[in-house]
Amino acid sequence: MSKSAPKRRMITSALPYANGPIHLGHIAGAYLPADIHVRHLRSTGEDVLWICGSDEHGAAITLRAKKEGTTPREIVDLYHEEMQKAFTGLDISFDHYSRTSSPKHHQVAQEFFRTLMEKGGFEVKTEEQFFDEEAQQFLADRYIQGTCPSCGHDGAYGDQCEKCGKTLSPTELVNPKSTLSGSTPVLKPTTLWYLPMGRHEAWLREYIVEGKLDGQPHHDPKTWKAHVLGQCRSWIEGGLESRAMTRDLDWGVPVPVEGAEGKVLYVWLDAPIGYITATMEWCEARGQDWKDWWQDPNAELLHFIGKDNIVFHCIIFPILLKEHGGYNLPTNVPANEFMNLEGDKISTSRNWAVWVTEYLEDFPEGSDAMRYVLTAIMPEQKDSEFTWSDFRDKVNNELADVLGNFVNRVLVLTKKYYGGEVPAAPAPEHLTDTDRALLDALAAAPDKIGGLIQRHRYKEAQLEAMNVARLGNKYLTEQEPWKLQKTDPERTATIMHLTCQVVGNCAVLLEPFLPQTAAKLAAACGLADARWADAQPDMVQPGTTLEELPILFAKIDDDTVA
Ligand SMILES: [Zn+2]
Repeated sequence: MSKSAPKRRMITSALPYANGPIHLGHIAGAYLPADIHVRHLRSTGEDVLWICGSDEHGAAITLRAKKEGTTPREIVDLYHEEMQKAFTGLDISFDHYSRTSSPKHHQVAQEFFRTLMEKGGFEVKTEEQFFDEEAQQFLADRYIQGTCPSCGHDGAYGDQCEKCGKTLSPTELVNPKSTLSGSTPVLKPTTLWYLPMGRHEAWLREYIVEGKLDGQPHHDPKTWKAHVLGQCRSWIEGGLESRAMTRDLDWGVPVPVEGAEGKVLYVWLDAPIGYITATMEWCEARGQDWKDWWQDPNAELLHFIGKDNIVFHCIIFPILLKEHGGYNLPTNVPANEFMNLEGDKISTSRNWAVWVTEYLEDFPEGSDAMRYVLTAIMPEQKDSEFTWSDFRDKVNNELADVLGNFVNRVLVLTKKYYGGEVPAAPAPEHLTDTDRALLDALAAAPDKIGGLIQRHRYKEAQLEAMNVARLGNKYLTEQEPWKLQKTDPERTATIMHLTCQVVGNCAVLLEPFLPQTAAKLAAACGLADARWADAQPDMVQPGTTLEELPILFAKIDDDTVA
């Protein structure tokens, strides 16, 4: 692979599971970092495609339908709508949002499975599996619960122990019970298609540890997060065991083999293929070739996920892509850790979460405020914690007192002194050291912020972007143009010219983080089409009439978040 910048960037965010609404932990994990990343790439004019969609298969959905006396279709339809509302409400700007229950995806996933089968990518085994005689169903994944053989946790599922994170197969559980009937299951033979992961250990180790693929440099492993590499290494060093890629279920992508009625693809086989299906849909609607995004060596693949999905995106999906042949493998998987809520782990089943659509009902204009706070505490390298008191403090002390206050003062003073027109640029010889320091900071900011974003350091990037506003605010406070306006109009004009430039730069540099606020600033400064490269110390033209803005961030009082 060439070392030059890729022509196209194919970006995916984990397909959210259509079994419950979107909460803040989801947003901070796989969606907001990707949104910041993609917005920056778009602003720099890169060719980028960001896709996502609802993951609508799997045992958790069928199980829930059974318990609620409804159908899987009703559940996924409900949450497919609900999740899109949440994403739109927080300005998560996917290029395309699809779903895995579509006929198109079934066809694409089956085709992929057939190719793997033809290449000998599976081992077909008939073996004894747990069966619930009362419910007349084979038990896998969430249908079976027991004691974790690794940590002793009582409620481990047939696919994973949520306590210690170990992936399991049902037969490893101690004292297994059916979650359908509570009965002890019996063993019954069935045929399963296994992915023999052990076969792939050698090249995976080279790919993960050295960043090499087929002996060629593929990516720099130093750019991967330490916790991602650590998890992958321990998987590979622990020895990769074969995993069943089919299930005996009636909801999912049917196994495209004669005689395999009643069997579907394992949800973790079909879900990542959903990225490809979604890309096909987007390309077909535009007369483009989807292969340019997935198979062209000049395209780069990047997966945004939470840490619970690392093994699927760094090991299992790469195996599937390589075994199929022709596909690019990810050059990075910048997984985030978890965000906790008020001292406890976020949990959908325990209803311990802040649901995005509920937040937006309470704060209809609150998209930027929540994006800001979630980015400020983004769990990039370690788990973090969301609290409402911290939310209030960050909105009040940073967004309202620094950014909002600064912009408001600049617009009000420009209106008062010059009828809203940006004053002329000062002659260079009239600039003070303080002025020059401010201009230097503006000149350096775009590369500094952009570099941090592209290295997946979104928290620091936002801090640097806010520092531009913070610098402007401090400069304005210290220069006190309101004391000079009568005695030294020339100096006042210099100060106001420079602070107008800071507002203009904020319109571009804050856009990946605070898109609504940035759009307001851009409109006020006549910079609606400004891109990243336009962020310059002289970007706002003298004579431009600045429009007034309503207050950018209302302060939050204690009662609102109590
Ligand atoms: Zn465990």
